[in-house]
Amino acid sequence: MPSRYDLSVDEVASLVADQPAYRGRQLWDGLYRRLLEPADLTDLPAALRSRLAAEPSLRPALSLASEVATSDGDTVKWLWRLDDGAAIETVLMHYPGRTTVCVSTQAGCAMACGFCATGQAGFERHLTSGEIVEQVMRAARRAHETGRRVSNVVFMGMGEPLASYERVWAAVERLHDDVGISARHLTLSTVGLVPGINRLAGERLPVNLAVSLHAANDTLRNELVPINKRWPIDHLMSACRSYLDAKGRRLSFEWALIDGVNDRTSDAAELATLARELGAHVNLIPLNPTPGYPTRGTSPAGVRRFRDQLVALGVNATIRRNRGTGIDAACGQLRAGHDVRLARAR
Ligand code: SAH
Repeated sequence: MPSRYDLSVDEVASLVADQPAYRGRQLWDGLYRRLLEPADLTDLPAALRSRLAAEPSLRPALSLASEVATSDGDTVKWLWRLDDGAAIETVLMHYPGRTTVCVSTQAGCAMACGFCATGQAGFERHLTSGEIVEQVMRAARRAHETGRRVSNVVFMGMGEPLASYERVWAAVERLHDDVGISARHLTLSTVGLVPGINRLAGERLPVNLAVSLHAANDTLRNELVPINKRWPIDHLMSACRSYLDAKGRRLSFEWALIDGVNDRTSDAAELATLARELGAHVNLIPLNPTPGYPTRGTSPAGVRRFRDQLVALGVNATIRRNRGTGIDAACGQLRAGHDVRLARAR
């Protein structure tokens, strides 16, 4: 069943078709700009408000299962329950000068990357575009309460965005057109689904593209990121090249540093070759611990050494500031479906 952020502007208008025409716009603005519940839209007559509050298609898609925050309050993670019992996570991160929401696009993930907690738990289902948008709206409401505004959205939570292309793209357009987030503040992260990247190159909005590379030769990448067997590195790099040519936006490569696996001098050299060809920025993520992967992350000194090697080879490389490790909200640690299944079994 659709929820409030799945409805189109015409569908919203049709809910108030018996009212003066401007009511449709008021309701739309209430949902997207003012971040209000229909029941709290005091510019609408009380009788209309209570009718809308009871309207099934305006129900929220997410119900709160739990919320955790770091002690400084700069990172908040929510576990949401969907109406079919599936569960997903959303993370809100405040930085000096920007506020970012990290959204899930699927409950679970089918890509099976062994070092990622979401991958370890398997695939449950795609999220609707309304379920994706509502994660941003709920986080935006929270940010607003503390005097902040959501400036960036990264599609880096649970799931593979390009495996659910239409729903994710509909969410991107809604966030851009109706919430007012600019394309350069929207980032899609992909494991490297080549057809999806090619399709993105033809879209009207030049969003940022991040590619979860993790290995720069096929032997190692086949192991770490199994979908590489379907779309090996040279295919992936040509898709990245087309995206770059079409959109002119700097690409980034994500690289989770795994001790003794992809943090050797030879790895830095191979990665530098790929990154230089595309002028890509490299985002180094010290591997975060997950229950199903025994290998450790590279030590902080090792991470800095790897970064320095890349920089010496002419690559723009930075270390991602780790957010939310203490609340299991960091990259690769989102695994709500798993926890919830356990909770249900008890
Ligand atoms: N499926 C998409 C979106 C997920 S983004 C993608 O793969 O890009 C989450 C990012 O965190 C990806 O770059 C992913 O490879 C990385 N990641 C996964 N597990 C991790 C871990 N244990 N430690 C650090 N980064 C991890």
